[in-house]
Amino acid sequence: MFDSIRIFLPFGLSNNFFTDLAKEENSQDDPAMKLQGLLTWSENQFSDLPWRRNRSLYRTLVSEIMLQQTTVATVRNHFERFLDRFPDLPSLARATEEELTVAWKGLGYYRRARNLKKIAEAIYRDHGGEFPQDRAKLMEIPGIGPYTASALIGIGMDRPALAVDANLERVIARLFTLPFEKGPKLQTDIQRRFDAGEIFATDLSYRSLNEALMDLGRTYCQARKASCELCPLKLECQAFEARVPLKWPATKTALPTTSVAHELHLLRVIVKKNNSVLVYRKKTHEWLAGQFEVPTFILASTDLQLKQYPRLTTDLKPLFSFTTGITKYKIKNSVLVLDEIEFEKLPFTMPSEWRPVAAEDSNFSTATMKALLKLAQS
Ligand code: SF4
Repeated sequence: MFDSIRIFLPFGLSNNFFTDLAKEENSQDDPAMKLQGLLTWSENQFSDLPWRRNRSLYRTLVSEIMLQQTTVATVRNHFERFLDRFPDLPSLARATEEELTVAWKGLGYYRRARNLKKIAEAIYRDHGGEFPQDRAKLMEIPGIGPYTASALIGIGMDRPALAVDANLERVIARLFTLPFEKGPKLQTDIQRRFDAGEIFATDLSYRSLNEALMDLGRTYCQARKASCELCPLKLECQAFEARVPLKWPATKTALPTTSVAHELHLLRVIVKKNNSVLVYRKKTHEWLAGQFEVPTFILASTDLQLKQYPRLTTDLKPLFSFTTGITKYKIKNSVLVLDEIEFEKLPFTMPSEWRPVAAEDSNFSTATMKALLKLAQS
């Protein structure tokens, strides 16, 4: 329309002024332009995260599994160290349980480490060491669920897919004021809209898009706090427009809960011989599976069902105590130092072994490390 109109323009403005203006106005309605602002913000802020450098599907897999239940700050401190130890699928597939738990130390939720190794084994064994490119085939691999498959496709392969974790779920629910409670129904609705091309149909990089939405959920668009004024998508966000961003996604009315924190009093027994200490390995279905602990007993617990350790009643006086926590338990750890003969009088039946106290790869649990450290300082 503007091409057919010739007008005298003030000095300095070209005859393309209106055409340019029209383009600019259109660009502000262009979804790609709006998303590009988000992507540029993310790139400027977070491109130095270690898993966003030297990209490979293996690095994406490792980082996504690590990030599923651990903060970015913690993964940042452990990612390269794990990759130094297991630089590729074959090295991870060959890892022993002990090597794996040592390398995973500090990241918590060890089940993920075993899961990661199982995935590596399956890709190495069944797919010649190459990641399948197809979603259905990826999801045939034990340990790869819908989220990890989407992350591998969207982030690892930079192809259309949304890896809908809790951050994306929240951000997208707010951007489009989606009417579902957080959880499976909301995730299904997001997936349906995405598959139908109703949301995030773009030529931009899906890798960058996924990562930018994750960044947004982690920073400005948090569950209990939305810093909308700083948000690169605020002009497009329906929840911001409604002025009540925290209303989305809806949450179930909290039911009275019975899963209150439990108090637990444990006795940790240190038995030393030369530079070694008597320990036992935690079993597969216990807390901290695969790690070594000094013999431990339950002295008292508000959870009468707890079967992690044998129970003990004793008059022996502990040397010192310290507190720790795990899942729903607040733990008082009392530490006793005994010699071998005294220890044999206690009802401890787990197979034990001597392990050097100072070895770097000792794979001791955090509580055992703390007990040994405090003993050394006492
Ligand atoms: S404008 Fe606010 S609610 Fe909307 S995406 Fe940004 S931070 Fe979240």
